[in-house]
Amino acid sequence: MRGPLPRPELHSIAVHAASRSGGAPTSEPLHLLAANENPYDPLPGVLDAAIAAARRFNRYPDLGCERLIDALACRFDLPPTRFAAGAGSVGVIQSLIQAMAAPGDEVMYGWRSFEAYPVITTAICGATAVGVPLTDDGYHDLDAMAERVTERTRLIFLCTPNNPTGTAVRRDELAKFLDRVPENVLVVLDEAYAEYVCDKDAVDGATICREYPHVAVVRTFSKAFGLAGLRIGFAIAPEPVAAALRMTAPYGVSQIGQEAAIASLAATDEVMKRVDVVVAERLRMENALIEQGRPISRSQANFLWLPLRERSAEFADACARAGIAVRVFAEEGVRVTVGSRESNDLFLATAANIPAGA
Ligand code: PMP
Repeated sequence: MRGPLPRPELHSIAVHAASRSGGAPTSEPLHLLAANENPYDPLPGVLDAAIAAARRFNRYPDLGCERLIDALACRFDLPPTRFAAGAGSVGVIQSLIQAMAAPGDEVMYGWRSFEAYPVITTAICGATAVGVPLTDDGYHDLDAMAERVTERTRLIFLCTPNNPTGTAVRRDELAKFLDRVPENVLVVLDEAYAEYVCDKDAVDGATICREYPHVAVVRTFSKAFGLAGLRIGFAIAPEPVAAALRMTAPYGVSQIGQEAAIASLAATDEVMKRVDVVVAERLRMENALIEQGRPISRSQANFLWLPLRERSAEFADACARAGIAVRVFAEEGVRVTVGSRESNDLFLATAANIPAGA
């Protein structure tokens, strides 16, 4: 007998969940280069703050994340009313789509990009997803996106740097794009990997969202700040949107998460020293892969994109056999996270043994 089933649209979420391990076996030992995580252990001060908060987990967390939001407001020099925090930036993205898009409305994004945009738009919110293909070299095609705006468009996601291609949107091209997008459409810069950006011409959402009334920025503590397991992300949004986000996910961030995020902000200098090491490793890996004859483009994030097309699965399988989890996108490419030096060395040695043209 069949038991209760979720709405058919939610089947696609099951597919998304099944791809979490990047197709690699999850048994240890494993070099975890599939999820763009930070390879470092927690900073001692951050761990202490989280443990102190854990001693009180019989109590509810601060409903409105007030101290965290005050710390963010201070960091970005913007009023607290422009901020909202949530359960990871994916939680914030879900709240944003729920707040802005009803069935019949359109949510646009470049594609290929972060899978959550189409899944949340269609399966969870019942709105229409409009994926506009990236250029052949993996950049957002902002002209094509501007042309696709209709009176039903409510939200546009620009993932910069883009997951999985690692490309960042340039400031000058974004300015032209924003001038073409009507002010009732919210343009969301998903900057999950902002701290790793080195390109001086790349967009900085924290600056742009002061200049345009229809721009929001989503950031996370999961990547550079290394708190992926605690689930904290935040948005800087126009005030009415930020207020709606604060309403939609009550008690969405644990007190452990809030305290760890506050302590992480206080330790930004140490965080950024670690980011510098990851960026240096990224460069070393890019150079080594180019030397191996692999056609990769430079990344602005903590991962690299190998557009291997029909050879993607074979490449990922060889990595899995070497104990390395990478993320495979069938028939498109492989995304590999910049991890610890040891994991990166093993990855490079493994890649060297897979013929570049095979
Ligand atoms: N945005 C992008 C572009 C991502 O790649 C990810 C995670 N892979 C997220 C958002 C969500 O991250 P989190 O929920 O951990 O903040």
